[in-house]
Amino acid sequence: MATAPDATNILEVAHPIADTAQSVTVACPYCGTANALKAADWQVNESGHFVISDVATFGTTCPSCNNTFAFRPLSQADRLPQLPEGLRTALHVVSQKGMTGNKSWVLRDLATDQAYELTPSTIAGWQIPVGDLSSPGIIVTMQPECVTLELRTGQLYRTAPPPSGLRAASRGKRA
Ligand SMILES: [Zn+2]
Repeated sequence: MATAPDATNILEVAHPIADTAQSVTVACPYCGTANALKAADWQVNESGHFVISDVATFGTTCPSCNNTFAFRPLSQADRLPQLPEGLRTALHVVSQKGMTGNKSWVLRDLATDQAYELTPSTIAGWQIPVGDLSSPGIIVTMQPECVTLELRTGQLYRTAPPPSGLRAASRGKRA
C-alpha cells in the first residue's frame, strides 16, 4: 500500500511516469539493481495504475539487497523528458544535482536543443556495452557498476572490470 514514510532514513527514488503507468522500472538507491514495480501490487492503485500526487510514495523492498526504499511517481507533465535509450547525439550539461554516482543531470541535445533528464533510474534495464570513453563524459551511476556517458556521442559505457591479474597490483600501487 502507499506509505508516507516518516523515517527519514528511507531513501526515495523520484521518477516521472505516464499518468496511467501500470509498471515502472527504477534503480534501487542502495545497490543499483533495476527493480520492476507493478502498480497493482499496491491496493491504493485502484485502477491498476500508479497514483500520482504530492503525498504518494510507494514503499518497496529491493529483492537484491533487501533494503527498503520509496518510489515517488512524478507527473511527466511537470518534468523534462528522460534521455531516450539509443539516442546518439552531442549533449551539453545544463545542470546537475546530487552526489557523484547518484546525480540528476539536465542535458541538452545540441542538434535539436531539446533538454533531457538523466538519472540512474533513467538507464535502469538498458543494454549498455562494456567500453571506455574516448572523450569527456559524465558518471551516470556507480552501482552496481560504473556507467559513463560520452557527451560528444551520447554513447553509454559500462566500465570493463580490470583483468583479475591486475587488480591486486593496481591496488598495491595506490595503497
Ligand atoms: Zn538494492
